[in-house]
Amino acid sequence: MIYKSLNKKSKPAKFEEAVVRGIAPDRGLYFPEKIHRLPASFFNDIETKTIPEIAFQAIAPFLEGSIPENELKKIITETLDFDFPIISINNQIATLELFQGPTLAFKDVGARFMARCLGYFNQKNTSQKVTVLVATSGDTGGAVANGFLGVPGIEVVILYPKGKVSKVQEQQLTTLGKNITALEVDGVFDDCQDMVKSAFLDEEITKQKQLTSANSINIARWLPQMFYYFIAYKELKKINKPLVISVPSGNFGNICAGLMAREIGLPIDHFVASTNINDVVPNYLKTGIYKPIKSTPTISNAMDVGNPSNFIRILKIFGNDFENLKQTLSGYCFTDNQTRKALKEIHQISGYVADPHGAVGYLGLKKYLKDHPGKYGIFLETAHPVKFLDTVEETLDIKVEIPNRLKETLTKTKESIEIKNYEGLKSFLLS
Ligand SMILES: *Cc1c(COP(=O)(O)O)cnc(C)c1O
Repeated sequence: MIYKSLNKKSKPAKFEEAVVRGIAPDRGLYFPEKIHRLPASFFNDIETKTIPEIAFQAIAPFLEGSIPENELKKIITETLDFDFPIISINNQIATLELFQGPTLAFKDVGARFMARCLGYFNQKNTSQKVTVLVATSGDTGGAVANGFLGVPGIEVVILYPKGKVSKVQEQQLTTLGKNITALEVDGVFDDCQDMVKSAFLDEEITKQKQLTSANSINIARWLPQMFYYFIAYKELKKINKPLVISVPSGNFGNICAGLMAREIGLPIDHFVASTNINDVVPNYLKTGIYKPIKSTPTISNAMDVGNPSNFIRILKIFGNDFENLKQTLSGYCFTDNQTRKALKEIHQISGYVADPHGAVGYLGLKKYLKDHPGKYGIFLETAHPVKFLDTVEETLDIKVEIPNRLKETLTKTKESIEIKNYEGLKSFLLS
């Protein structure tokens, strides 16, 4: 498969080149040149297929010519090596838990898939070390660090905004050691993301280092997120109602993968982009004007994004046609107070303990279903509530049990390097 830059100035790239580059030289995001359609027959008996089988059929055409079939099957099986439970909240709403992986957030799937792809490409080319440079608003860092830990030939550098990630998140990205370094940035997530983008364009750095990004702009992280939507459909097809999926969204990589899954034929009726007060996309859907903002910190901090990178891919999927987009995508934003109330409501009606991101997803879904009562909805639970322990325990007045896989991480010693600005990042990378 060939990938083209959405800025149209760079040369087309094969999958492996697009993965290693992360972003095209003209700063555009890569987008597949052709989009295949799965045959209708694929969905007739989807409930009889295994999740890895379905995942392979969905993603294989996007990697054609880059990873042999057997190797890809192995990568998929290893990536999806945990459960994806669906839990009913009421008779019209369920949640799909995407946080059963090693770092308790949905980003594990994308990070594990990408790490294994890069690992495979590196086997063929052992001479050059690759540096994975990634900005995180909280969960990406941990998932990427865990996914890439110990992968030969790869060094990982993570930038995170000082004091703006939770204690659990910080421990997950600062305690692994080995090939992982955490840089603590005096700023907000958007500053971290801007620094990463600048480093990619800085020839003094790129002459010395092969940089790649593991943010959701990387196609190897973005595309495997399609699997969640196939899993949802496989399980919920039997309900036989139009299916609506609400996605708590920040950088819009996850929901964009869902829209891509629909584009290759998955029968999802409607998508809801649910955000906190960083509401650039809901605003766009209302007004038709895309206006980036400076992000504001919230209790759903993994969604504190003021200029969502993947939005441009969503436009592309819909042929840059606003009316067309609006028929498939709705968007709503919610305050921290509404989010806390939703946490309580979900707990009251079902006993389920959601996290603040899932709660935002629930609110968006509820709002949409109010006007569309014949449909069935799921919201994605993108993180385990323990990752936002203080908010959840305080709001619900309960104790959240800490999963064993986290206990060890919490006792380790934090190691990070503080940096103030881009010069700090540059001198670290060149040292
Ligand atoms: C990253 C993240 C999101 C937002 O996902 P995007 O793909 O950036 O829209 C939502 N919830 C949690 C818990 C996250 O870690």
